[in-house]
Amino acid sequence: MNTIPAIISNLDLLTTIGRVVKLRKMGADYTGLCPFHKEKTPSFTVSPSKGFFHCFGCGAGGDVINFVHLHKGYPDDKHGKYMAIQECAAMAGITMVDYEPGKILRKGKDDQFEAVTSRETSLRFDPQEIIPDEFISWLQQREIDPLVGLHLCQSGDIKFIDGKPCFVYSNGVKMRPEYASSKSMRWIDGNAQDSIWLLQHLTDIRRRLVIICEGESDTMMVLSSLAEACDEPGVAIRPWEIAVVGAPQASWRPNDAMLSLITSFGRKVAVIFDNDFAGVEAETAIIKAVSSTSMGQYDNRVTVWPWVFWPGVNDVCQLGRNKTAKTLAQMLKGI
Ligand SMILES: [Zn+2]
Repeated sequence: MNTIPAIISNLDLLTTIGRVVKLRKMGADYTGLCPFHKEKTPSFTVSPSKGFFHCFGCGAGGDVINFVHLHKGYPDDKHGKYMAIQECAAMAGITMVDYEPGKILRKGKDDQFEAVTSRETSLRFDPQEIIPDEFISWLQQREIDPLVGLHLCQSGDIKFIDGKPCFVYSNGVKMRPEYASSKSMRWIDGNAQDSIWLLQHLTDIRRRLVIICEGESDTMMVLSSLAEACDEPGVAIRPWEIAVVGAPQASWRPNDAMLSLITSFGRKVAVIFDNDFAGVEAETAIIKAVSSTSMGQYDNRVTVWPWVFWPGVNDVCQLGRNKTAKTLAQMLKGI
């Protein structure tokens, strides 16, 4: 047995969490006040039989190692992960032998952790101070407004994996640090991040339209083009009436809570997913989900990006800022 499964099976989840959180038994599970966000009624649950904890309030969740990682406030990177593993190993009385520093730990398909290697560089910066040159040039190549990029990186932690930035959000809630080595940017555990992002944007009742984009770079591109698109003749909606939210990947689907946030206040929805099979599948699923809500009675609630005008182009980032703004304006005229 390698180290991580050994730690997880030797370190009692309930006892470990019970030292920090006052837990009350509820059926097979336990519940208490979440240590990772402020709350008055318990939305934090521990399932000893399943071996994980989950907070319905802030989305924090995972196994005993994730709990220690979050609780200790270790950095959201592989070093932080390693510190949490070390700490858990010590608590479980396990000597670590098979961890190779320099490898990233990732949760694999079989739910076992596997080590993956990647060309990874990590940049930490204070958003109030300097934006890393590497990130600025990445944004400039895509004609994305650096301020938009900066706004989306409030946590101040950007990693470049295989030359592409990987964003870690905190916004007061620490996120699980896993991320995949990938050709494109991606988030792991995106749902927790989504719900926070959505909450931030969608509690604002001025938002009449919600634009859902696929991935971080497309989200930034749309945000960068928004003001220009709203200035086009015939567009009656203003930028502050639009919430742009990013789905971490095409396989993302809004859950019921997100859906009710998205569709509250009689909002319209526009989806901008990639011009490929997965994108079309996502669009279809979101249209279906939105029209099944009680707000579904509204006509034309979901608008999709008119890829028909851009054959051969895969995403809005490829389209560039100017064409994105013009096409976005066409979309917004119907809203
Ligand atoms: Zn919580």
